[in-house]
Amino acid sequence: MVRYRKLSEYLKERYGTRVQKIPIFAGFTCPNRIKGRPCIYCDPTGGGFSTLMNLPIREQVFTWKERFKRKYKRVKFIAYFQAFSNTFAQVDILRKKYEEALVDDEIVALDISTRPDLLQEEVLDLLEEFRERVDVFLDIGLQTVNYKTLKILRRDHTLAEFIDGVIRAKKRGFEITTHVIANLPWDDIDDVVETAKVISALKIDGVKVHSLYVVDNTELGEMYKNGEISIGSLEDYINRVITFLEFLDPSIVIHRLVSDPPRKGVLFGNWGLSKVEILQRIERELEKRGSWQGKNFDYLQKEFR
Ligand code: SF4
Repeated sequence: MVRYRKLSEYLKERYGTRVQKIPIFAGFTCPNRIKGRPCIYCDPTGGGFSTLMNLPIREQVFTWKERFKRKYKRVKFIAYFQAFSNTFAQVDILRKKYEEALVDDEIVALDISTRPDLLQEEVLDLLEEFRERVDVFLDIGLQTVNYKTLKILRRDHTLAEFIDGVIRAKKRGFEITTHVIANLPWDDIDDVVETAKVISALKIDGVKVHSLYVVDNTELGEMYKNGEISIGSLEDYINRVITFLEFLDPSIVIHRLVSDPPRKGVLFGNWGLSKVEILQRIERELEKRGSWQGKNFDYLQKEFR
């Protein structure tokens, strides 16, 4: 039985072959960093560490393509603008950077990761221009719908900005993936359920579920070292992920169910296990419980009896 809708299967259905994402470091930053108040968990690479980050975009793309061709025999690729906020610049600069990534016909899509409050109409106009040539996906960070937790995380946007950005991008037909962290120490299981419900109600297309990791030289790192936060057990994480899946619309594509912490400077990451091991445990537990994505997806457009 297929228990959740995997990204790899979705991409295969859509493009007729397996498609590889190429991580691009485009040299952007983020308004929170400019203000000197990054999100408390944000590591210095903005969540997009790459060994090729000092190369021009075109060279990054060609280098990754060759590697993935050799290793996995891939022939189609998505240019993934991953680190920091990839819509945080003047439109002509954005145009130039996105253009650089479209090195040939093997790049079938642009995937642009950004904050919900950086989706101004002129940015969406530009992305529509690119959509005439390739698919354009948007990755929009949320982490949780609990606005009190968003404040603690210092996201500097609330749930309202997220809803606004999603509605405007959806109106123009963009596919949206959002990021959530399932085990934030300030959230309980009800927040996890509500996050799944809001994502489903907004008809978001894909989700990346992250496990919280703690990097040194961040405010979260200081909190962790001072004993101000404790990260729950792996069993609790698995339970949260499964509960999240159960309340999620089954048509939403699951891009990931656990984080991939950076190799250096990590104070806490994935309970000392690899992401594959954790994924296997989640899948075994889904099996054991006889559960699946959308098992409890019965709350929208309910009829009164
Ligand atoms: S919005 Fe993203 S890049 Fe900016 S500070 Fe927060 S985590 Fe870092």
